[in-house]
Amino acid sequence: MNTSNSLVWFRRDLRAFDHAALYQALSTSRQVHCVFVYDTDILDGLPRDDRRLRFIHASLASLDAGLRQLGGYLIVRHGSALQEIVTLVKELGVSEVHANTDYEPSALARDAQVALQLAAAGCAFHSHKDQVIFEKNEVLTLAGGAFSVFTPYKNAWLKRLGARPDTLAAYPVDAVAHAFAPPASASALPALEEIGFTPGEAPLAAGMEGAEELFEAFVDAMPDYGRARDFPAEDGTSRLSTHLRFGTTSIRHLVRTAQQMMQSGAGGSGASVWLSELIWRDFYAMVLFCNPHVVDRAFKPAFDAVAWDADAEADALFAAWCEGRTGYPLVDAAMHQLNQTGFMHNRLRMVTASFLTKDLGVDWKRGERYFARQLNDYDLASNNGGWQWAASTGCDAQPWFRIFNPVTQSQRFDARGEFIRRYLPQLARLDGKQIHAPWLVKPQALAERGVVLGRDYPAPIVDHDAARRRTLERFAVVKKVLAVVDDADAGDGDD
Ligand SMILES: Cc1cc2nc3c(=O)[nH]c(=O)nc-3n(C[C@H](O)[C@H](O)[C@H](O)COP(=O)(O)OP(=O)(O)OC[C@H]3O[C@@H](n4cnc5c(N)ncnc54)[C@H](O)[C@@H]3O)c2cc1C
Repeated sequence: MNTSNSLVWFRRDLRAFDHAALYQALSTSRQVHCVFVYDTDILDGLPRDDRRLRFIHASLASLDAGLRQLGGYLIVRHGSALQEIVTLVKELGVSEVHANTDYEPSALARDAQVALQLAAAGCAFHSHKDQVIFEKNEVLTLAGGAFSVFTPYKNAWLKRLGARPDTLAAYPVDAVAHAFAPPASASALPALEEIGFTPGEAPLAAGMEGAEELFEAFVDAMPDYGRARDFPAEDGTSRLSTHLRFGTTSIRHLVRTAQQMMQSGAGGSGASVWLSELIWRDFYAMVLFCNPHVVDRAFKPAFDAVAWDADAEADALFAAWCEGRTGYPLVDAAMHQLNQTGFMHNRLRMVTASFLTKDLGVDWKRGERYFARQLNDYDLASNNGGWQWAASTGCDAQPWFRIFNPVTQSQRFDARGEFIRRYLPQLARLDGKQIHAPWLVKPQALAERGVVLGRDYPAPIVDHDAARRRTLERFAVVKKVLAVVDDADAGDGDD
């Protein structure tokens, strides 16, 4: 007989199905209340028109409706999460708080503080794995260490899943719904204005329904994913990243479906490639958890020796990159996509990150912070992993001497210039050959198509070949540091 009352604290898991914390609370408590806190410790640093708040706001309405269908409801608070949770626990008289684990270092620190204060008030705090398939150090090397290379991690991940298929089992929230505390009133979630944000439409269909709609459409496209995912003009990827970020869908549901499509053959070759991408997400979450220093330093310490440009010229180059006026059409179109929609295609994240670090010589941390402000799907682990990959400072990163050429990337992945035309309409009349590098086109031919460089579109702000040489020199320091480390290691061996 369950006698305790519990509170489920929703954070980045805004759904009412297949939810570890909700299921555990419902199956072990007499009555369960649910809360989401608009946490001012996070919100105070965001611009008032932040698109993500609109997504969260719409997703909370969907979550509240979902909980009400099951017999419960959602309490929404605005304030410092630490104080709000402790206050609510006392108001409701609950003795247990359940939440799904958030692995970001600042979230872990916050939760540790919450747990301490709750303990002082006689309330237990339970944290559950929900956001990933395998967490923390569940997947380790044979020697018992954390992986730093993706492919062996993926193989070990798949092996573990093969041995523990129950990991993918859904948490059947509806089967234990009798324990929900019934709603005290009709739904009245705070409007965005009430918490100090500008109202507006969510940047994509939000909530559990929005996620499922996207996933259903993607399932039909999955067989071709392996090919289509590289072409930003095509609708070839799932666009589920924002839903995964805020937990409006369940990672178990997605992995299960991908596996079923692989087993039935319906997923063609695309299903296993897509599953790999979901494993990258687990991989970067694990990397961050096991190596929290990556938040503000290189994964590989030797790469902290790289001296990025940090003068007024670097500031100007950084501003041009942010605003999409580098003179390299694919880079600029990608930055316009990001600024206008809050989304950027994966191929373009790699191209723009490489361009900032290796063509402009600007510190990856500045680009990472810019993405963090702009991306709807911003996730510290994946963003940091992606940036350190592109800057060659990360684990399993692009080798530092491999430098993307922004023109050949454009020719390969947007051959006809369709994506570029979508975001740079001033170049719309250039043909598929001209559009990738307008400065190579004779001024008269450009003018015939309505483009004067410097007036309608910038001349390139750097010469790629010269930038490439500077980057090779910049990274030469790493070779020296590594040589010193090697010597020291050899010395140790001699002792
Ligand atoms: C510089 C850089 C920054 C990035 N920042 C983020 C970020 O802040 N948040 C984020 O979710 N992803 C980030 N990514 C990874 C990737 O670009 C996005 O997950 C993907 O573009 C989202 O589109 P989608 O949902 O259509 O992906 P799909 O291709 O449909 O992939 C399905 C899911 O797999 C996961 N995934 C795919 N690729 C990766 C990857 N390389 N690393 C980790 N997970 C992946 C995502 O959760 C994604 O939604 C970044 C990549 C780079 C190179």
